[in-house]
Amino acid sequence: MNKITMRAVFITIFSFSMALQAQQLPKAFGRTVKSVNPENGLVRCATTEYEEYLQEQDPKRETRAQFEAWLAPKVAEVQAKRLAGKSVNAIITIPVVVHVIHNGDAIGRNENISDAQILSQITVLNQDYRRMLDTPGYNTSAVGADVEIEFCMAKVTPTGSATNGIDRVNLSTANYPSTDDIDRDVKPATIWSPTKYFNIWTVDFGNNSDLLGYAQFPTGSGVAGVSPNGGSTTDGVVIGYKYFGSSAIYPQGNYGGSVSQNPYQFGRTATHEIGHCLGLLHVCGDDFQSCIVNATDSNKDYCPDTPATKRYNYGCTTTNSCPNSPGNDMIENYMEYTDDQCMSIFTQNQKNRMIAVMNNAVRRKELKTSTVCQTPAGIQDFDYLNGINLYPNPATSVVNIAIANGDLPDSFTVYNSLGQQVSTIAVKGTANLTVNTSGYSTGIYFVKVSKGNQSKTLKFVKQ
Ligand SMILES: [Zn+2]
Repeated sequence: MNKITMRAVFITIFSFSMALQAQQLPKAFGRTVKSVNPENGLVRCATTEYEEYLQEQDPKRETRAQFEAWLAPKVAEVQAKRLAGKSVNAIITIPVVVHVIHNGDAIGRNENISDAQILSQITVLNQDYRRMLDTPGYNTSAVGADVEIEFCMAKVTPTGSATNGIDRVNLSTANYPSTDDIDRDVKPATIWSPTKYFNIWTVDFGNNSDLLGYAQFPTGSGVAGVSPNGGSTTDGVVIGYKYFGSSAIYPQGNYGGSVSQNPYQFGRTATHEIGHCLGLLHVCGDDFQSCIVNATDSNKDYCPDTPATKRYNYGCTTTNSCPNSPGNDMIENYMEYTDDQCMSIFTQNQKNRMIAVMNNAVRRKELKTSTVCQTPAGIQDFDYLNGINLYPNPATSVVNIAIANGDLPDSFTVYNSLGQQVSTIAVKGTANLTVNTSGYSTGIYFVKVSKGNQSKTLKFVKQ
C-alpha cells in the first residue's frame, strides 16, 4: 500500500469512528453534548449545554446576547485604559471554597480527594492566571497576558468558624448525583454565599463520568426584565474529581487512583471552567461553520487576539482550521479543548473581559472586597488540625497519630464502625500517639482527635 492509499484508508476509518461517535455522544443536563474527544471519549466541558439548561429553567435569565451587549462597553473601557498606559486595577484575589462531594470514602480515597490534591489545584490556578515564570502557566506569546487574578483558600466559614477552605460533604448514598441532581439539590444545599466565596464543587459524575466539568457564566446587572439574583444558588464550577489538581505537584498513585487522569492531569480543567465563570467563551465561540472575523464578535469569542478557529481542537497537534485567516489555531489557549500539557495562554483580550467581569458582574465584583481569606481575631488557625494524619492505614498491630507541627492534641477517642467508643486517651506525651490495635477485630475505626474546642475525625482500617 502506498502512502496515499494508506492515508485514504486512515481517513475512511477516522471518518467512520467520528460518525460512530456522533451517534453515541453522551448527554448532560438532558441534552446531547456538542463534542467529545475522539481519542478517549471524554467530554472536556459542558458549559454551553449547562447555559442552555439554565435558560430553559429560568426564562428570565439574561441571554448571552444581552450579556454581551452589557459587557462590550465595559471591556472597551478596560482596553482603552490599558492602551493609554493607565493602571487598570490592583491584583484581584478571589476567595475559594472547595466542596468535596463524597459518599463516605476516607479522605484521600476516590472522590473524597485529599487536601494536598485540592491545594495542588489552587497552585495551578495561581500559576496560570499569573502567567508565572518557570511554571507550566508561563508563555512567551506576544498576546499572552498575566491576568493579575489570584486565588486563596477561605479561612472563615459563613457562620464564622475557622476553615481551611475545604468543605467535605458526605451524601451518604451509593448513587452518584446526575448533572441535574447536582444543580437542583447538591449545589443549593451546599453553596456558601457566592458574593463572598467563589464556589468550586468536586464530584464523581457517576453516569456522566466522561464529563470533566462545567461552569456558570456571569450575569450583568441592570438589564431590564432580568432578575440579578437568578443563578445565585448554583454559581461556580463543578469539576470531576479525577481532573482536579495536578499530578506534577501532587504525584499520581499515592491515594488509590484518586488523582487526576491523563491527559487532563495538570489542573487545566479548573483553569478553563473558571475562565467561563469570568466571562470567557471557547476560542471557536461554539461556532463550527464560520471563520469570519468582524468587529462585533471576532469569530464569536469576542477576543480579536485569539486566531479565527472553527472547531474544538483535541490533543496537542499544531493545526489551522481557518487557513485564510492569520495564524494557526491557538491550541495553547486555556479555552481550547486540548490536552492539559499544551495549555499555557490567556490572551490580553481575554484578560480585558475577565477584568471587566470582575469589576462589574453580579456575584463577581463583590468578591473583590470579601475578607474570608483573612483569619478573624479570636479564631484559632485551622492549620493545626489540618496537619493531623493516621499511619499506617490500613493498620495491623499499631496505628500512629502524626502531628505536623509537633504540638500535642489534648486527647483522642477511638470508635468502632457502629459508633461505639473503644478507648479514650488523654495525651500527655508523644508516646500516647501510638495506639495498640493488635487486640482490635478487623474492620473500620474512627479516631476523633481534640484540641481546645476543635476536633477532627479520621478513619482507619484494621486488617
Ligand atoms: Zn468550556
